[in-house]
Amino acid sequence: MSTNVCADCSGQCRDCCHLKPGTEPVKFGLTINDMQRISKATGLRPSEYADYEKIHPLAKHDMAAVAPGIDRMFPRNIRVGLKFDEKTRACFFWKAGKGCILDKNTRPRICTLFPAWYAVDGTGKVAIEPMALSNSIECLAIERAKSQPKKTLKVFNTSETQLAHFAKLYEVELTRHSQASDQEIAEAYLVTANISSLPDQE
Ligand code: SF4
Ligand code: SF4
Repeated sequence: MSTNVCADCSGQCRDCCHLKPGTEPVKFGLTINDMQRISKATGLRPSEYADYEKIHPLAKHDMAAVAPGIDRMFPRNIRVGLKFDEKTRACFFWKAGKGCILDKNTRPRICTLFPAWYAVDGTGKVAIEPMALSNSIECLAIERAKSQPKKTLKVFNTSETQLAHFAKLYEVELTRHSQASDQEIAEAYLVTANISSLPDQE
């Protein structure tokens, strides 16, 4: 058992960095800030590690039911998402035996927060939702912590304060992304393609 629970988890082929069959419609997305951070850290162009598509509005609704506010990641139902290998179903940034090769300041915020989520009160104060840290049966950290949220944070070598810090950043970044025009998203993705012309999902 190593100190990197996510590396152990990926060794057991149960990690959250593989796209499981049937989960494609609810694949999460990247924000403009995610792409800017990742590209700065890796020197890669977004089009090398991400792709974009139109998603069905119901998929957006399903995701928001689990993670309130996440629908802001898909303005006009456009999803810019990480690329997953067609054969292994692994995320572009996943490496066998290591797990994610991006550090937690660089990763998509949703990955840094997972499996936690957060709530924002009327004053803008962000609070981590403890339930999410106890009820994902797939997560090895939760299993090791015997579904106790505080222990899960310890297994991840993080704290509620640190997660709340990332959640606060994410709030700002999600809002910015939700308000971006197709042009801004296309520019962040560094494509010349006309994102507005993507067909709607029926
Ligand atoms: S970016 Fe990292 S943490 Fe997120 S899905 Fe890919 S490998 Fe996993
Ligand atoms: S966050 Fe949980 S499910 Fe995902 S790789 Fe880490 S231990 Fe596994």
